[in-house]
Amino acid sequence: MVLDPLIPSAAPRPATRRVVIGDAVIGGGRLHVIAGPCAVEERYVEHAVATAAAGASVLRGCVLKPRTSPDSFQGIGRDGVRLLDAARDTTGLPVLAEPLEVDDVDALRDHVDALMIGARSMHNTPLLRAAGRSGLPVVVKRGMSATYDEWLAAARYVEREGNDQVILCERGIRTFETATRNTLDVSAIAVLRERTDLPIMVDPSHATGKAAWVAPLAMAAAAAGADALLIESHPDPHHSACDAAQAVTPAVLESIVAAAQALSAMARCPAVDTLAECRTTIDSIDDAILQLVEHRAQVVRVVQQHKTRDRQPVRDPQRERAVVERLRARASVLDIGGVEQLVSAVIDVCLDAAAVDESVPAPERDLLLA
Ligand code: PEP
Ligand code: MN
Repeated sequence: MVLDPLIPSAAPRPATRRVVIGDAVIGGGRLHVIAGPCAVEERYVEHAVATAAAGASVLRGCVLKPRTSPDSFQGIGRDGVRLLDAARDTTGLPVLAEPLEVDDVDALRDHVDALMIGARSMHNTPLLRAAGRSGLPVVVKRGMSATYDEWLAAARYVEREGNDQVILCERGIRTFETATRNTLDVSAIAVLRERTDLPIMVDPSHATGKAAWVAPLAMAAAAAGADALLIESHPDPHHSACDAAQAVTPAVLESIVAAAQALSAMARCPAVDTLAECRTTIDSIDDAILQLVEHRAQVVRVVQQHKTRDRQPVRDPQRERAVVERLRARASVLDIGGVEQLVSAVIDVCLDAAAVDESVPAPERDLLLA
């Protein structure tokens, strides 16, 4: 069934293939965020707890790192899987890790919930096949200079082993630009949606290489219809053992998760094939509504500060009527009376939130609210 999208007839569609990693259904009605440090470090369990609290659905748990230079940190090694077990037990979240060679697949299999084939390994067909045979979901990252066709062919190597749990991950491609680590190809989301039913993940961390640029590109990916995001986060980014410049803090991660999920719910056609999907979609939309009302309440607080300074009354019935009228006119499936009730309730809850704003001096606040 297809419902009217928010952006008429042009809204991005979610994937039609569902890939299940733990409790996260990638390609279902909700955008999921996979996050955590670039590399597993000794304090990984602590990092995993912070990542889980920020709203991630799956943990990055890379114990082996494919580094460009042999002089760089190569990962904690296979023994690090004890930390993956501990992180899974402590947080209850599933873990994603990258095998570098065929033997790593067996070594990781019992300690992770999904495998990731890194950009440098996308052309390694024995590794793709071994990952496919593992029976675990497999994220296939796009090779640095791989075309869509080459990337899709790599995914088919996994599928040929009888494994349909495959996700494509755009992580930026090599271009002439040197300001960013890579160039995020947002077009991949739109183009591949027409060519495959596989869910599409976007990694804005490796695409940009800089923490401050991760959030804006995460939003671009969410708005373009990505099914999931892969983000590097670290409680103390400067001391991250690997890719320190691009790691965001748990606080930034938390706001990215909330904003990306809200944006995704607003931008995409809702997934409604099953009752469970309808409910997941409704939860995402409700999250988005609440987040927008919270946002509105913050703006109303600033409005009240301006009014306090200008000695104007808190409520302005004429303006409130205009707000209700404007939205009444925009209703389509909603009943006009319902819209009036809804908008009036939103106005009231935002004013209530502003009324308890401690930043407005109490005597003035009381005077104005009287
Ligand atoms: C990673 O995500 O850990 C990684 C190494 O990224 P990429 O393979 O995209 O360079
Ligand atoms: Mn990294």
